[in-house]
Amino acid sequence: MSMSVGEQVFDGVRKLIDDVCDRICVAEACRLRLAECKREVTVHFPVRMDDDTVRVFTGFRVLHSDARGPAKGGIRYHPDVTLDEVKALAALMTLKTAVADIPYGGAKGAVICNPKLLSQNELERLTRRYAAEITLFIGPETDIPAPDVGTNPQIMAWIMDTFSMGRGHSVPAVATGKPLEIGGSRGRFEATGRGCMIAALLAAKHVGINAGEATVAVQGFGNVGAVAAKLLADEGCRLIAVSDSKGGVYNPKGLDIELLSAEKKETGSIAGFKNADTITNAELLKLGCDILVPAAFEHQIVKANATSVRARLIIEGANNPITHEADRILGDNGILVVPDILANTGGVIVSYLEWVQGLQFLFWEEEEVNGYLKRILTKAFAEVLQTAHQEKVDMRTAAHIVALRRLASAIALRGIFP
Ligand code: NAD
Repeated sequence: MSMSVGEQVFDGVRKLIDDVCDRICVAEACRLRLAECKREVTVHFPVRMDDDTVRVFTGFRVLHSDARGPAKGGIRYHPDVTLDEVKALAALMTLKTAVADIPYGGAKGAVICNPKLLSQNELERLTRRYAAEITLFIGPETDIPAPDVGTNPQIMAWIMDTFSMGRGHSVPAVATGKPLEIGGSRGRFEATGRGCMIAALLAAKHVGINAGEATVAVQGFGNVGAVAAKLLADEGCRLIAVSDSKGGVYNPKGLDIELLSAEKKETGSIAGFKNADTITNAELLKLGCDILVPAAFEHQIVKANATSVRARLIIEGANNPITHEADRILGDNGILVVPDILANTGGVIVSYLEWVQGLQFLFWEEEEVNGYLKRILTKAFAEVLQTAHQEKVDMRTAAHIVALRRLASAIALRGIFP
């Protein structure tokens, strides 16, 4: 029987874990535990719609591993999401938190729905009921949700409020990515893009590119791409191309990031930006540049276009933007790829910092948050690079080795209950 897309994705993550476990000789008991998710919860729950009809929605909350600490992972609202996809994303979170060496495991949640087709009131009722259905499985000490595709700070606020009502007191640390007014962290919104910028500068230094002279192309001008583009421009890089779902713009002399952001705010897209040539997303990926940041969505660089990529460095802002086959081609062509489980961990790192602030009810200035983020990411980058040299592997394999060594050691130390 052929596998569904969700099953294929989870199978892919499992194979990756398996390959690296083989390479570093991880104990069989550890490999077997990481091959499965510790807990998979499916809930079916009713929501009263605005027209007074009732619809039943399906949601999931999956905890892949909490060997290194409470589980952490976003909640996705999407019409096509499946349990297997959520399992794969939960496993990836386990790896990401281990690479960053923050004391977390991995989890993920989802509701099958199209949030764009729901009114704000329907979205609130759906979120509160979903939160109530999974309330026994989440909590500051157990499993901490955050925003993902289709969810946002307001949804995290409703989750925090619903959970708090059950406890009888405010529990800000139950979710991260919340609005500042109720225990969100300064710097959280920019965190993933900031992490990409930090990773790009570290990688540029490693391959001998001077940031002040570097040319940059960014695919996707959303939360990750727009922030990464701005912060790289602030560091002196020349932003020569950006794109979004409506198309792209290119100017080899450089694009003004403030004017681009204003264009996006005014028209909802950067595609009509003046003082630049129009290019397609496919053309952007083939531009000659120093740093390419794919920050839109998965599988953008594939076997068919990988040989045309002319960037010197790729920083994976999006999750899985490069397929396995394309990755090999890029490696053969001498292009350094900083993998997603390192390059886009800025968000989960600052989520961790938000949780720490929420637990102690002491909130920090943005400089402090950004300082921690830089320190944690710089250390992780150095560890991955050192492992890549020692093991003679690419950075993606090295990041998985770093993560799995940490997980194997935590699992062995904790042993098996009873
Ligand atoms: P977003 O929705 O804010 O932005 C996505 C951007 O991609 C938008 O500008 C959209 O127009 C653009 N886009 C869509 N289709 C495109 C196409 N065909 N070509 C070019 N651009 C296209 O999303 P985001 O939060 O910036 O997330 C982007 C990616 O980064 C996703 O893969 C997400 O899973 C990953 N990611 C995000 C975070 C985070 O904290 N936001 C953290 C880790 C990973």
